[in-house]
Amino acid sequence: MTSACRNHAGSEIRSFAGLIARTGIRLAGQAFDALLPQICVSCSAAVDAGRAPLCGACETRLREIPAPLCPRCGFTAFSDLSAPGGCAECDEWPEVLRRTESAFLLSRPATQVIHGLKYEGWTSLGSRMGALMAPAARRVCRGPALLVPVPLTPARLRERGFNQAHLLAEGLGLELGWPVRSLLARTRTGRRQARSGRRTRAGNVAGAFQVAPGCVDSADGSVVLVDDVITTGATLAECCRALGDAGVPCAGAESFARTPPRSPAA
Ligand SMILES: [Zn+2]
Ligand SMILES: [Zn+2]
Repeated sequence: MTSACRNHAGSEIRSFAGLIARTGIRLAGQAFDALLPQICVSCSAAVDAGRAPLCGACETRLREIPAPLCPRCGFTAFSDLSAPGGCAECDEWPEVLRRTESAFLLSRPATQVIHGLKYEGWTSLGSRMGALMAPAARRVCRGPALLVPVPLTPARLRERGFNQAHLLAEGLGLELGWPVRSLLARTRTGRRQARSGRRTRAGNVAGAFQVAPGCVDSADGSVVLVDDVITTGATLAECCRALGDAGVPCAGAESFARTPPRSPAA
């Protein structure tokens, strides 16, 4: 183990109490999921015990991104991509973000499923949502890839008790047989981004991520980032940049849902 890696390991040991607390919160959440009556987070229909709280009918109502898809950003290609200007969605993305795909549009019931996972503590949704991301993940990378969750800020992780992107990556990894590794750390806090525009988001996350130095030996170049929602691509571009700076090329990124573009400035 290199000294840099030992330093990283040391910092992990120092935050061991926090890890135990987070793990405890997560396990407690899963235990409550198993004990509570299973009710669909979208339509409140009864769901079989032991299943994630998403009924089969609502699962079939999740809307895939309407084809034809842009081969780079994976969003609906509204114009002729061979024409000047190309895709309006990803034309201004930085070069480092090569490929993204999303399983579903961010519309009902996907919005309710994500809300249930992130804000209502239904952590058991993560594995089912991750499994549903498998076809889109294969569009990013056909072969086995290292799945790397987009990290939360330490403050947000303490507040929530779990990283929803990590739960999705674990579910996706289980479905595909691909490994999951938390290579990235978020080094500084950005402002809440839910209502930020494209340029504001890019500024908020610039330089916000780094790879734990000396701990990239298992990354063979087939890294796919995993997040819950893609909006402007700014966060993912910064993650790709951090991976690239550490010598880890990123094949692309995948999310459970994609925010439809709101305006040219959004
Ligand atoms: Zn339902
Ligand atoms: Zn595009």
